[in-house]
Amino acid sequence: MPPTDPPIQRWLWYDTETADCVSLDRSSYVEAFFDGRPVPLPEWVCTSPDGGLHKNAGLLALDVDIAEAPNVRDELNWTCDYVVQLVAHSWLDEIRDLIDEERIGLGVLREKGEVVSGWSTIHERRPPVLLATEGHVKTCPICGHSYTVLHGREYFSDPEVIGRPLIVNSNGLFVREDIARSRNLRTPRGAFEPGVIELEARRF
Ligand SMILES: [Zn+2]
Repeated sequence: MPPTDPPIQRWLWYDTETADCVSLDRSSYVEAFFDGRPVPLPEWVCTSPDGGLHKNAGLLALDVDIAEAPNVRDELNWTCDYVVQLVAHSWLDEIRDLIDEERIGLGVLREKGEVVSGWSTIHERRPPVLLATEGHVKTCPICGHSYTVLHGREYFSDPEVIGRPLIVNSNGLFVREDIARSRNLRTPRGAFEPGVIELEARRF
């Protein structure tokens, strides 16, 4: 038997399965053109030198104006533009105590100017990047946002992840395995059954 990693170096990865993403409210944002099509340009978007648009990784919490509230079936969702993670409070309350407020921020969803109850955005400032054995990563030199192409087996390689109870990045939410197991954390509705992500040396 190979030695097993200490439990503080393993996380359960919660990622939404829904394709029913949430559209931003076009009337709330100025418009930009990207690849020849109009896109909303919220104040929390960064433009990288190559023209790529993404959420500014340097920010803590992101508030979003949405066209329509998320469906009630799913407890994890995302914005179709920019992939802002959305979490229903019915599941957030199971992990809310794991949030390190220095790193992870909760933002509000607004629909026609009114706060959408029961939901928050969740975002981490310059989060650890999820890597993959046959993937690649592109990082914005301005804000540090990393875009990962996942192919092969996924893992973390940044030692900064060690011991962290909760990690949030564009790929989803990661709860430390021993914590998730000890509280019998249920899988959010509409999410994949979580896989295990470990800390490993970088492969490429
Ligand atoms: Zn950037």
